[in-house]
Amino acid sequence: MARFRCPNCGYVYDEQDGCPREGFAPGTPWRLVPDNWACPDCAVREKPDFEPEDHSFQG
Ligand SMILES: [Zn+2]
Repeated sequence: MARFRCPNCGYVYDEQDGCPREGFAPGTPWRLVPDNWACPDCAVREKPDFEPEDHSFQG
């Protein structure tokens, strides 16, 4: 499971936890999150702006 961090506010999307308040159940992979999904904390950044938090999971 990978984690992705918002470069603006530091919010982290963890695939293991999902984001239930946004409608993503725990275990929802990042690739199923729509590209126009905005950060739930700051709403400034969207999915393509997020950065992998643990580089060992890249690829
Ligand atoms: Zn954010």
